[in-house]
Amino acid sequence: MKVFDLQCAQQHSFEGWFASEDDYGCQQAKGLVTCPMCGDATVRKMLSAPRLNLKSARGSEPSEVPPQGMDSTAQSDGPTAADVRTNAPSANELHARLLHVVREVMAKTEDVGERFADQARAMHHGDIQQRSIRGQTTADEAIALVEEGIEVMPLPWLPAVKETLQ
Ligand SMILES: [Zn+2]
Repeated sequence: MKVFDLQCAQQHSFEGWFASEDDYGCQQAKGLVTCPMCGDATVRKMLSAPRLNLKSARGSEPSEVPPQGMDSTAQSDGPTAADVRTNAPSANELHARLLHVVREVMAKTEDVGERFADQARAMHHGDIQQRSIRGQTTADEAIALVEEGIEVMPLPWLPAVKETLQ
């Protein structure tokens, strides 16, 4: 899994998750990579901070030079803590953040689908190895799991997430 700092033509900065650099190139060429805030498909990859640090330290990757006249350290960062306090985020920003969280959860968990309750129980009882899972279960089943002392967290399901992940 690769995380790229991306920016649309409207200067919105956001993260994109891809299987590989090729996967990004392929999706970008097909116009599948769009800005979560405005839907713009004119998306370009920013240089991430760790890569910039690596470059200045070792002088590697000479082919990836930031465009002339662009300050690559400014504008590419997300909102700072101060911004969050003073500016109420718009619905679009909230949606983008939620999308980000959901993607992060999805990247770190295994989808066990309908077997969620069974798997959660088996792990709780030590029948199978502990791991992070996600899946579907009924509200009654989720309540039963909690009553048995098994931690479950409801995950908002956004159709857009499924689309962008495939
Ligand atoms: Zn945008």
